[in-house]
Formats: sequence, structure tokens, C-alpha cells
Amino acid sequence: MNRNNKGQFMAGENHPNWKGGFDAKKYRDEYYSKPENKERQKIAGKKRRKEKPKEITKYRREHTLATREKMYTSITKRSYPKKNKCELCGKEKRLIYHHWDDSQLKKGNFIKGLWLCNRCHQLSEGLDENKNLGKMYLKLKSSI
Ligand SMILES: [Zn+2]
Repeated sequence: MNRNNKGQFMAGENHPNWKGGFDAKKYRDEYYSKPENKERQKIAGKKRRKEKPKEITKYRREHTLATREKMYTSITKRSYPKKNKCELCGKEKRLIYHHWDDSQLKKGNFIKGLWLCNRCHQLSEGLDENKNLGKMYLKLKSSI
């Protein structure tokens, strides 16, 4: 065996000290279980929030979703409408992601959803609960 192929030969599984490969999750858990690393992470987070608040807001808007039960992170939503326009009424407002299919949420990634203003979001929630609500409302109005 010459010097050049020794490295390759003794690498990875062939090496006597091989312990089954690098376990990223285990490494990460061990890393964050140490208080000094947790603290370091906290400081880095604070710094990032101070330096790039817009980027962080954008990322959160596109990749996190809070429901009554749980906070979902690292998910992919439909792209945010241009000019902050509500997909239902078209008004330019602060938009909320309206979702209705929780089974998709559990799968993790792509979620059906609409970007709606607060008013349209509440309306949609009501209609999702009771599809006849719209008809009932119009009927009620015409009866008065
Ligand atoms: Zn709207």
C-alpha cells in the first residue's frame, strides 16, 4: 500500500474507528444541550433580528404558521401576493394566511392556503364552518 491510497482505504467504514457515520441530529442535540452554546445561539439570534428585521419577517411570513394547537415552522406557503393585495377583495392590507386543510399541515410542506386581509379571513373562517352562511345572510337581509 502506498501513501496515496492509504487515506482512501482507511476512510469511512474501512477505518477501525468507524462508529457508523456522522449523526447530524445527535450532534445538533448535543450541541444545543450545552448552556454555553444555547447562550451563544441566543446572542446570535438577537443580533440577526437587529440587523435584518425585514428578512426575518419575510421568512416567518413564508415559512411559519401558528394555529390554535401548534406553531408550524419550515413549511412552504403559496407565494405572498404582490403589493400586499388580499386575494379575495383585492385591497392592499396586512395579509394573513388562511388555510383549511390540516391534514396537509401534518405532512409538513406544501399547504393549500389563501393570502387574505383580516376581514376576508374572518369571513372565510365563517364560511368554512358553515357553507350556507352566505345564503342565510342574503336571505335574512332580504326578509327585513
Ligand atoms: Zn380582503
